[in-house]
Amino acid sequence: MTKENRFNKEVLYINILIALLFVLMLVVGYQTLQNQSDKIKTEVDNTANEFEARIQTGVGSVLYLHAAAKEIYKNRDIPLGYVSKVHEINAKGDFTLDIPALSNLTGFGGLVQSKKVLHEMASSLALTTYFTIVKGLNKSFIQVYYASKNNFSTSYPYLWSDQFMWNPSMLTKPLWQYATPELNPERNLFYTPLYQSQRKKKILLTVGHPVYDKDMFLGTVNLDIAVAMESTFLNSKNLHHGTYVIVSQEKEIIAASNLEGYDEKIIFKAKQLLSKEILESAVTDNDQISLGTQYVYVKALKSVPWKLYYIKNKLDLYVNSLYYVGMMFIVILLLFRVKTLIKRLSASRDELEHQALTDPMTKLYNRRYLSEITAHMLGLMRRHWSQLTVVMLDIDKFKNVNDTYGHQVGDDVIIKLSQTLQEFTRTSDVLFRLGGEEFLILLPETAIEGGYAMAETLRSEVEKLLIILEGGVELRFTISIGLSEVHRDDRNFDAAMTRADAALYEAKESGRNRVCRAKPVP
Ligand code: GH3
Ligand code: MG
Ligand code: MG
Repeated sequence: MTKENRFNKEVLYINILIALLFVLMLVVGYQTLQNQSDKIKTEVDNTANEFEARIQTGVGSVLYLHAAAKEIYKNRDIPLGYVSKVHEINAKGDFTLDIPALSNLTGFGGLVQSKKVLHEMASSLALTTYFTIVKGLNKSFIQVYYASKNNFSTSYPYLWSDQFMWNPSMLTKPLWQYATPELNPERNLFYTPLYQSQRKKKILLTVGHPVYDKDMFLGTVNLDIAVAMESTFLNSKNLHHGTYVIVSQEKEIIAASNLEGYDEKIIFKAKQLLSKEILESAVTDNDQISLGTQYVYVKALKSVPWKLYYIKNKLDLYVNSLYYVGMMFIVILLLFRVKTLIKRLSASRDELEHQALTDPMTKLYNRRYLSEITAHMLGLMRRHWSQLTVVMLDIDKFKNVNDTYGHQVGDDVIIKLSQTLQEFTRTSDVLFRLGGEEFLILLPETAIEGGYAMAETLRSEVEKLLIILEGGVELRFTISIGLSEVHRDDRNFDAAMTRADAALYEAKESGRNRVCRAKPVP
């Protein structure tokens, strides 16, 4: 195998490597992308489930309070106890009962002395024990209370009556719009829209449940939840740095993480901070929705009529996959560089080889090349049963040119001659500068007669050359040529060259500027 082929083979291997790496790059890129979105999907699922569990604590608590309230109310024998200490505090008939450090009962419009209402008050005070339990379950549970349509409420933790007083405006609170028989005939657990607490300006929502005595609506058990904690919770779950938003049935933002413009101290409508496309995207539990530059995951929560949105920039996802793809890409670039390097090496090796086989002055082949192609040309000649003529030529009286005009002019003459030789030979002829002003031409597929005609042309063309030197000096020169034929059984060109050399000698001897053929071999 030649050196050339070895280089080609290396380039081929590298091309295969590049192709393999490229395929691998696409596969790994796709896989990483897939992995990423799987991980995100899992994260969103987990977050939704955990959030659901948190909400369940609230929902469960209210159901628990409701069950307790019904049970207590049923017991007609509850002693009035504290209720007898309820007293009116102003002319409007507003009344209060403070049980410091525990609970307080406040109302307005005068104490109704009906047995039923007093029983309801005593029952609500008995609920305080359950309020304490529920309140302890979660830091974001701010207030637990019973609100009666009979114009009073019992609330835990204890609030001084100057801080909180149940009053007529309470009956216009959102709470009642979800509790009364007209508005909640199904008697379902309900959630109010977000509102701001009057005292601490916290954003709250109330989860409540209507309480009935058979078919008579009494009031509602309620739990006020501060939603700020839910944003903190979402933040702690936001491992992939997306955007979490929980939107209520009222299209308000309950909680959010990494949502631009969001402030957990302000009540936002979802459409203020989220695009219409995102809000209107269909709920699909297992898939991401592609929206422009973003992926959106939407999950409908099960225990509350809310939706959890997760929004992730596609670019983020791609950038993560790019770590691996980028590394492979660099390797591919490196391989391309190596390929270029090999090609350059190969080219410079060719160049070096060419230089080693040519004469720098005339660019003709040298003696070394002659010995390299001998076998090849002899082979071709035998195979095609063709003839091969050897032409040997030498400048006449060249010493004089050097002596008269200098070595530089001598060189110019040699170059001029080599150009003329190339001009008047065929492309299939091979020209060599054997040394000095001596040249050899191999004429493949040419018998000595044809060679003679060609040699004669060369001789006469050279004779016609006129070189104008500096100062207008005219220089002419001639060549002498010796010809011979290679024989089919010659082992190399030596014999033919010796005969051509002898013919050349004869041409010189017989007066120069002429062509002589070698004597036929006897
Ligand atoms: P002849 O007709 O018998 O060939 O006479 P000649 O003077 O040409 O004799 P010969 O071939 O022996 O002379 C060769 C001369 O060519 C000797 C040398 O000074 C000169 N020569 C050889 N190589 C170079 C070359 O590369 N450049 C120059 N300028 N002269 C060279
Ligand atoms: Mg000479
Ligand atoms: Mg010579």
